[in-house]
Amino acid sequence: MAVSCDALIVGGGPAGSTCAAELVRAGLDVVVMDKHAFPRDKVCAGWITPPVVEALKLDCADYARGRVMQPVRGFRAGMLEAAADVEIRYDEPASYGIRRCEFDHYLLQRSRARLRLREPMKTMARDGSAWLVNGEIRTPLVVGAGGHFCPVARSLGARPGRAETIVSAQEIEFQMSERDRSECRVDDEVVQLYFCPDLKGYGWCFAKGGYLNIGLGREDNHKLSEHVEQFCRWLQQRGMIPRDLPGKFNGHAYLLYPESRRNLTADGALLVGDAAGLAYARSGEGIRPAVESGLLAAAAIVATRGDYRQANLAPYVSRMTGRFGGRSSNGESASWLPRGVREQLAARLMATRWFVRHVVVDRWFLHTEQQPVAAMMR
Ligand SMILES: Cc1cc2nc3c(=O)[nH]c(=O)nc-3n(C[C@H](O)[C@H](O)[C@H](O)COP(=O)(O)OP(=O)(O)OC[C@H]3O[C@@H](n4cnc5c(N)ncnc54)[C@H](O)[C@@H]3O)c2cc1C
Repeated sequence: MAVSCDALIVGGGPAGSTCAAELVRAGLDVVVMDKHAFPRDKVCAGWITPPVVEALKLDCADYARGRVMQPVRGFRAGMLEAAADVEIRYDEPASYGIRRCEFDHYLLQRSRARLRLREPMKTMARDGSAWLVNGEIRTPLVVGAGGHFCPVARSLGARPGRAETIVSAQEIEFQMSERDRSECRVDDEVVQLYFCPDLKGYGWCFAKGGYLNIGLGREDNHKLSEHVEQFCRWLQQRGMIPRDLPGKFNGHAYLLYPESRRNLTADGALLVGDAAGLAYARSGEGIRPAVESGLLAAAAIVATRGDYRQANLAPYVSRMTGRFGGRSSNGESASWLPRGVREQLAARLMATRWFVRHVVVDRWFLHTEQQPVAAMMR
């Protein structure tokens, strides 16, 4: 027998749980479906910036009870394989390190939506003016929050793996033993960032509450594992990470906002988070756009008063463009410069404290120039 709800959200990550929480708050009967049981892990460095804490109205002291919430007060950045790097410090926490298995579970529980976990979405078919999902859930609205390979995004025309320019990244996260700690020169309050010489990606290394996260992401998938191995060898030679890493690296793909061409809406459907392809171009940060798109989507949904025709969902698209810009270019490309010149220029700039602080960290990674998303919701 069919069950029904006002809105079905496919995917219980930060995008889905944020949207769900807002819709529940507005009085809608919301179901979140996820193919995994929670808590579940997600391939991620687990770095969140202060606007995420603010947008989620996260009570840091409450959250930190029994969970990792590592304040980050500094960044060390440079070019991979270069001898020198630059360290900058902030008086206040400039970011936080969380563990996705804890963070996503906390947000999903807090949303107070009805949960259907360990249940993959397989089909969605039009049933009059509503959707019939998996042949048994009837709903007028489906929110696609299922990450890069979201089945709702596919229904809206996305072709993951085909005709999309992706970022591929790999990471490993593990609890450090006493021996690991003694072999590891990474300061808990400082994120380490090292850019690939060809400027197509960067590696990171980041300690949080006794866990170490190491990873590397690149704009192309070509020989990614070799880049990761090379990065780890280099960190090991510098005595920054343990000689033996437990376990294997895990990989995942996602889209950067300027490259993504995914449709954000259709009649009775919209996409949020990685399903929509929203990660920031320079840093690859995806949690903030996931949370912010969840909030903007919920506001647009509530404003339609239950008439979810695509034209009525258009304010979501325009607010996303207002927030993240047009999709063709991030306007910061220096690709008119020959590659060799660009690489030399980058190496010089990355050795200067001013550039690392004001451009790399403040602008590319922290987006300090962007106003809080709450200002767009009024
Ligand atoms: C290696 C790596 C490191 C990263 N590090 C960072 C970082 O430090 N900070 C940051 O901000 N961003 C980071 N990102 C990006 C970030 O992880 C994503 O942008 C973010 O998780 C997007 O959230 P989301 O809610 O859209 O999707 P997800 O978190 O991917 O959640 C999607 C959910 O949908 C569920 N799902 C999928 N298919 C189905 C289906 N068929 N049926 C039901 N449920 C389904 C999944 O089980 C999952 O729970 C990183 C990405 C990678 C690959």
